[in-house]
Amino acid sequence: MIEDTMRNNRRSFLQQSLLGSAGLTIASTSEVHAAPVPDADKPEVTEQVDVLVVGGGTAGTIAAIQAGRAGAKVLLVERGTQLGGAMTTGGVAFPGLFDAWGKQIIAGIGWDLVKEAVELDQGTLPDFSKVPQRHWQNQVTINQFLYVILAEEKCAQAGVQIAYHEFPQAVTKTEGGWQVDCRGFGTRRRVSCRQIIDCTGGAEVVGLLGLPRLREEERQPGSYLFMLGSAHDPGRNQIHRLYVHGADSTNSRTVTLANLTGRKSILGRLRKGDKRLMHLQPETGFRESYRIQGETLITVNDYRSGRRFDDAICYAFYPVDLHTKNGVKPEPLKHGIIPTVPLRALIPKDSRNIIVAGRCVSSDRLANSGLRVQASCMGMGQAAGAAAALAVKHGTTPLEVPLKEIHDLLRGHGAIIPGDV
Ligand SMILES: Cc1cc2nc3c(=O)[nH]c(=O)nc-3n(C[C@H](O)[C@H](O)[C@H](O)COP(=O)(O)OP(=O)(O)OC[C@H]3O[C@@H](n4cnc5c(N)ncnc54)[C@H](O)[C@@H]3O)c2cc1C
Repeated sequence: MIEDTMRNNRRSFLQQSLLGSAGLTIASTSEVHAAPVPDADKPEVTEQVDVLVVGGGTAGTIAAIQAGRAGAKVLLVERGTQLGGAMTTGGVAFPGLFDAWGKQIIAGIGWDLVKEAVELDQGTLPDFSKVPQRHWQNQVTINQFLYVILAEEKCAQAGVQIAYHEFPQAVTKTEGGWQVDCRGFGTRRRVSCRQIIDCTGGAEVVGLLGLPRLREEERQPGSYLFMLGSAHDPGRNQIHRLYVHGADSTNSRTVTLANLTGRKSILGRLRKGDKRLMHLQPETGFRESYRIQGETLITVNDYRSGRRFDDAICYAFYPVDLHTKNGVKPEPLKHGIIPTVPLRALIPKDSRNIIVAGRCVSSDRLANSGLRVQASCMGMGQAAGAAAALAVKHGTTPLEVPLKEIHDLLRGHGAIIPGDV
């Protein structure tokens, strides 16, 4: 009652302010109320879940939804403020490639989400029955803002709990799985879980555990996405990209420097011309940092030859696409070749109860330059979510789940398994 009165007073104050002394029209107001957060005043909360997904980016969102839909209790911890990662925060809102040689080769949860984002935005989907002259012509242009909201809706529907602004600080092995201590601003969260899915892009949980990772002396440049001169029409137009050489998503210090460098350069361009700054992503898009050393490593020969791994869980398709200080010269795959991703490339070597998905997949640098694209990351994410949920169900580790069960679960959620098409 008291709250209602305060709300009404506030509304009338706002309306008065908008009316001003001239008594003009009232701007329409709308409002929504967030539910109270239990224990909001407590500095630490504890949580018991089946699957902890760290990183709610391109792969992690799909992993969490798949694990949730398979019946696991899932917590998704994301250090940023929204889902989608490179796709939304980085502004790389043109996911690919879901098709190869005239047919769709990656589908399932990620594809459904992308498709719904395009349809709700009244956009256009590519015709996968046509082989384009250039690979990027079959990438899907999406509205990054809409994708974020739809991804949150799908997480909620799958029972996935989201914790933004948090990241793991310490990971300890327990008898039943893991204890993960996460930190957020003004809060700490102690999570007990059976399985971890590391989708941080650079395999940061794998790093915290001291498991082996691979990192190049020189990393591919990142790109800062922005728009000068004309308005950004999300879901329709491409925006400007500035190469940020040396960009590295390894830690907060390297990310800070990349962002400062990118934004400073954009300011310089703005001052040199007469165009207005119309759009600026909040963060650099990072192409490369760490990859895991997995139970197997995908080599560029595996990738170029389209090796069909015996434990393949999804296809991948993109040219070998290494960006250097001189730019990029994509090397298309030979006609008919469609690479695959094995489950063992998602499992950190000699580990149990942890699986990764996304650009940190175990692969050599050139293979990774093609594997890192978004459709493949989504395919890997869905597979990791399925394997983790089944591992919880059987009280085992993802690698010991019968492959057929993983495949069956994935197909039940719309995914395409190598050999299906
Ligand atoms: C400039 C650029 C252009 C590209 N062009 C294309 C293209 O044309 N087509 C295409 O399909 N792909 C493209 N890619 C590649 C693709 O976008 C990425 O490789 C892919 O999105 C990576 O997905 P991911 O899930 O591995 O990581 P991300 O999408 O980066 O997600 C990682 C998430 O983890 C979070 N995170 C990181 N560390 C922590 C932590 N410690 N705790 C909690 N959360 C954490 C991050 O905030 C982020 O949300 C491009 C990439 C870049 C940078």
